[in-house]
Amino acid sequence: MNDLERRSIAEGLAAIVGPRYVRADDVTRWAYAIEDFGGAFFHPLSPEYGPPDVVVKPHTAGEISEIVKLANKHRVPVIARGGGEDMTAAATPLKDLGGIILDTTDMNKVLDYQEGLNAVRFQPGIRWGELHHELARKGITTGVRGPHGFLGGTLGGGIGGNCFSMNSPKYGWVNENVLTLQVVLPNGDIIETGSLTNTQVKDWYYRYCYGPDMVGIFLGSAGAFGVITEVSMKTYPIPEFSDTLLYIFPDTDAQVNFMFKVEWYGYVTELWGIAYYALHDSLKKIVGPLLGEKDIVALTTEAHHKGIFREQKKAIAAIAREFGGAEVPVQGFMRALNLSVVDTGEWAAGGMYGKVMGPNDNCTCSIAPLHQWRKVVDSTLALMEKNKDALSGGLPLIGAQHFYIFPQLLGSRGVCQSVVSTPVDFSQDRNVQRARELYDLVMENYMDTGTVALYRIGKESKYLTERSRPGYISFMKAIKKALDPKNIMNPGVLGLGLEDAE
Ligand SMILES: Cc1cc2nc3c(=O)[nH]c(=O)nc-3n(C[C@H](O)[C@H](O)[C@H](O)COP(=O)(O)OP(=O)(O)OC[C@H]3O[C@@H](n4cnc5c(N)ncnc54)[C@H](O)[C@@H]3O)c2cc1C
Repeated sequence: MNDLERRSIAEGLAAIVGPRYVRADDVTRWAYAIEDFGGAFFHPLSPEYGPPDVVVKPHTAGEISEIVKLANKHRVPVIARGGGEDMTAAATPLKDLGGIILDTTDMNKVLDYQEGLNAVRFQPGIRWGELHHELARKGITTGVRGPHGFLGGTLGGGIGGNCFSMNSPKYGWVNENVLTLQVVLPNGDIIETGSLTNTQVKDWYYRYCYGPDMVGIFLGSAGAFGVITEVSMKTYPIPEFSDTLLYIFPDTDAQVNFMFKVEWYGYVTELWGIAYYALHDSLKKIVGPLLGEKDIVALTTEAHHKGIFREQKKAIAAIAREFGGAEVPVQGFMRALNLSVVDTGEWAAGGMYGKVMGPNDNCTCSIAPLHQWRKVVDSTLALMEKNKDALSGGLPLIGAQHFYIFPQLLGSRGVCQSVVSTPVDFSQDRNVQRARELYDLVMENYMDTGTVALYRIGKESKYLTERSRPGYISFMKAIKKALDPKNIMNPGVLGLGLEDAE
């Protein structure tokens, strides 16, 4: 887009939302060219990604509808963005296409909460912290409490990116808790789903209505099928009793068996384990002396009733003994990793991630059944060993001598994730390219060892599309084509192609 076209689009947007909420200056544009936390390959200096032409901050679904119509008229991409911390360029424009970033963070209000419905309705740009703050005043919570990057993440981004994490072992993925959505479709139509499809119903208490699950189409759709403008989600009372416990295990199999069982029995709200043998060496230095080079499980258990809470903790201890585990004091270990345990049992893990990954890292994640986790980690370790030259530029930056793997056995409804980081020294082009190749190899290896990518797919999806069963991607593409014939909504995301975006 040349300067003249950019100015014209900016004027069109200003007529919709007011000039105060439109920016097309270089500083703002480049600020939106990089995702928060800078998944380093998705850097503005990368060959693929770049700045938007214009950034707009809408406040209503009506405004978004007008913006989308304008974008259709001019065939300009529109990318909904929350915190921009997805780390896979999900909310970052493709360099060749640019477009409009639709920053949703001014749409951050809790709209309604009704006790009898046990559900809350809110705008998508609300951040997890803001929502929890509002709900805590009423003594309630959302169950699943957001991804580990939750401080800056919005609910809209969590839904668009299919997030999971805090308390997922008990409450499932974020999207399993969504009830109804209001969505602005790519043609500008505003639709309601679930119980709100009946004109006589004013409440937003149920996800399903006649026909297929129309809410589901928008969950994890990365802004490709429409812009979510209102959400209703399940709520739960904040548990009165909560504790975080730490166990060590003699080996990884015992650790896995313990994690599987305590989650299966429903005793834990949060569950997180790391296998010592596969840890990054800088973490071994911290954990080894503290916990005797053992495999570790940290968990949170919660209940509303004191007696149930006490019995639950006893049951967890019994299962740990069954697999040779021993409880160790939690605080020293948490402090060492810079984790902090807040009173509801959530882990403010942002500090930990920042420390462990560092700013020059590109982390990959994948989801596998808990019992296959070891296979995934072993094959990843072998792959990293074979390709460790690719990390020679990045390792000194993070003060490490070995490759960088951060295995997480994160219990979440019987599945777990593995995280591998590939640190990059950006001062050398060759390093970036080689580390990028390794990132691709790691992702391919993940897929080939039986994992799936459920979240954080963004624009980095070739591993999935290459391995999808026949018909799956073409089915998604057919939906995309029907909803968005000019391919203006976040083109390039989810492997849906760029055909009509030229
Ligand atoms: C340190 C760190 C740790 C993390 N840990 C986890 C983790 O444990 N689990 C996990 O799942 N993720 C994790 N992530 C990824 C990240 O936290 C989530 O993807 C994030 O919450 C996304 O929210 P966001 O507001 O930043 O979304 P964005 O990055 O802004 O957007 C994500 C996607 O959603 C789309 N989108 C945004 N708003 C809307 C809307 N209103 N309508 C339609 N589409 C929309 C965007 O177009 C984009 O495709 C982590 C990230 C960091 C930095």
